[in-house]
Amino acid sequence: MAVEQTMRAWRVAAPGPVDGGPMRSGIEPVPAPAEGELLVRVLACGVCRTDLHVVEGDLPVHRAGVVPGHEVVAEVVTGADGFAPGDRVGIPWLRHTCGICRYCRRGAENLCPNSLYTGWDADGGYAEYATVPADFALRLPSGYSDEELAPLLCAGIIGFHALVRAEVPEGGVLGIYGFGGSAHLTAQVAAARGARVHVMTRGAAARELALELGAASAREAADRPPEPLDAAILFAPAGELVPVALEALDAGGTLALAGIHLTDTPPLNYQRHLFRERQIRSVTSNTRAQAREFLAFAEQHRLQVRTHRYHLDTADRALGDLAHGRFDGAAVLVP
Ligand SMILES: [Zn+2]
Ligand SMILES: [Zn+2]
Repeated sequence: MAVEQTMRAWRVAAPGPVDGGPMRSGIEPVPAPAEGELLVRVLACGVCRTDLHVVEGDLPVHRAGVVPGHEVVAEVVTGADGFAPGDRVGIPWLRHTCGICRYCRRGAENLCPNSLYTGWDADGGYAEYATVPADFALRLPSGYSDEELAPLLCAGIIGFHALVRAEVPEGGVLGIYGFGGSAHLTAQVAAARGARVHVMTRGAAARELALELGAASAREAADRPPEPLDAAILFAPAGELVPVALEALDAGGTLALAGIHLTDTPPLNYQRHLFRERQIRSVTSNTRAQAREFLAFAEQHRLQVRTHRYHLDTADRALGDLAHGRFDGAAVLVP
């Protein structure tokens, strides 16, 4: 396969508010894969809220001038370890774990303190080419376009992990707070597994989409759901919704916090928010096993993936539109 010598890529020049133009686009050499890594040509890259946190500096800088993007659908150019040129692969957020710490040894590699992440510690997919360790590249389900696959690779996987952490009982009631790229996939997975889903989110278009995708009800962000919730997932990075969601939980209910970043939560009142065995759980990344489990689920149950296509050249506009909530579903960059 012919590989160009140079490529277009976006780098975070100076983390700050997205409207101030913190990213720069330029032409640079195509990266060289290290031992055990694949070189891939990017076909599509999803725009995740975590990219916004990297670009705006909510997350500390791990690699100066990093190329963001960790929902990368790509074609292998240089193979390694069972991947051949032409294979379609996914590059997710999780890029490296040590394999020897106590978390890795007990199957919780998502908590590995030595973990590395695509688009934060290493260059990601806001570019025409990228590299990935073969051990962390994912095989992709059939039946989806490149553009549809991209949001599955973080939004889908993380939402799936959050759903597991929320422990929705068989035939139970799930509340979803915030309805963007991750929530719109998770709602479908929950419904396919028999849950009744209520969505609380701002924006009439997002509420309409929620109903279209099978939610039983859709209300304003801080509204009370029509029935007590067995479980809830907070996707919006808004700490003020934590007590709101806890109050909506039935006794014994669990609130899972799906974001990597959350604004401060207001004080909680023990009786109103926690007593009767309501609990809060955070969600940190995912294991490779969970990623594969979710992608296998997506192969069996065709998910509707709502995407908004942007050309790679307009990655800054895509991030700005995400920051200002100008679209529903998931933005995807296509070179
Ligand atoms: Zn480890
Ligand atoms: Zn992400």
